[in-house]
Amino acid sequence: MKPGIVQQIFKDHFDAVDATHQLDIRSLWAAWNILTCRTPDQGFHIDECPNCKYHVILCNSCKHRACPMCGAIETELWLERQLAKELRCKHHQFVFTTSDLLRPLWRWNRKVFTNLYFLAAWHALRELLVDEHWLGALPGVTAVFQSWSDELGEHPHLHFIVTAGGLSPSGQWLDADLKKLIPFPVLASKFRGKFIDYLRKALNPLNARGKAKPENQVLMPPPGRSIQQCHNLLNKLGRQKWNVRIFEAYQYAGGALKYVGRYIRRGPISERRILSYNGKKLIIAYAHPEKHKKPTFTLEAKEFILRLLSHAPQKGTHCARVYGLYHSTKREQLNQARAHLGQAPYEPIIEPPDVHELLHRMMPDFTGDLCPKCHARLVTVFVDRHNRSPPWEVAA
Ligand SMILES: [Zn+2]
Ligand SMILES: [Zn+2]
Repeated sequence: MKPGIVQQIFKDHFDAVDATHQLDIRSLWAAWNILTCRTPDQGFHIDECPNCKYHVILCNSCKHRACPMCGAIETELWLERQLAKELRCKHHQFVFTTSDLLRPLWRWNRKVFTNLYFLAAWHALRELLVDEHWLGALPGVTAVFQSWSDELGEHPHLHFIVTAGGLSPSGQWLDADLKKLIPFPVLASKFRGKFIDYLRKALNPLNARGKAKPENQVLMPPPGRSIQQCHNLLNKLGRQKWNVRIFEAYQYAGGALKYVGRYIRRGPISERRILSYNGKKLIIAYAHPEKHKKPTFTLEAKEFILRLLSHAPQKGTHCARVYGLYHSTKREQLNQARAHLGQAPYEPIIEPPDVHELLHRMMPDFTGDLCPKCHARLVTVFVDRHNRSPPWEVAA
């Protein structure tokens, strides 16, 4: 459906959801942004024509990561930065999943849990690949955290886009088909061991010297559970089989990055997937219809709102990260690898293209930001976000 449909659904049903559920600040902040995106509550900006000085005053978009109206531009910018760094070789996609039983711990500690999840997966993969017995080289990795399933339910998992090869300690590029090379039961058990170990340590609020750890390093037990019960759960999960999957290699990273990157800044759903809304129910197209018996599924509007809000990231959570050769501390090794693959040294994008430039790249026929008088492209000359204040801060 047309842009703004999610905002309409929130206008129709959010108050009823709020009245019947105890929503946390994270959800309220996401809902407030979705409700006020492109309204005066978000402040305004002025676009001006560089030729004839025609100008127009427009309301700001909210830029919240759960807002489906926002984010396409940020995603494009993120892709642009990653592709500039990309090594011109095949890339595999790995998916790391954990037990459903860990979900309460994740819900209650989104930032800390996600940090440890990323670290455990990367440390397990790195340990295996740098080992001479397997590859003996450092790969480049772009990793993305997603918390949703195909029907927008909770399903925290990690996508790792990994170079099919790496740079050896002597500076040689080693090609490898990781699907054949990696012993997956070994990788899965390394990942399980590290993640459980990191979670266990984070449940201890004190460091090795008996001092209190900073808040952002401590896992809190979910309501109604003790720290001991969390340890018991981890013991149990340590005896179960965990799963890491790998998919056929992409020729270059671009395709894989687009696949995982498209939702990074736009939340779990694009408005185009909402096929109909009758004021009560929505019919939504699956992102991957080939995996399902039917091409669509139906949700009540209130359930849709709850599911969407359940994926709003906690402030400060980085849902996309880079490791190995793609990390900023490995610039020299990245350039060595690029030289082996016939690429010029990496040049970071210092001045990213502006919003208007990106819009035209994404939609060459877009005319929404052209001057109605002389057809030159308008430029944003002033931004005011001062009006941006959620209601509960005003009341305080
Ligand atoms: Zn928005
Ligand atoms: Zn003009």
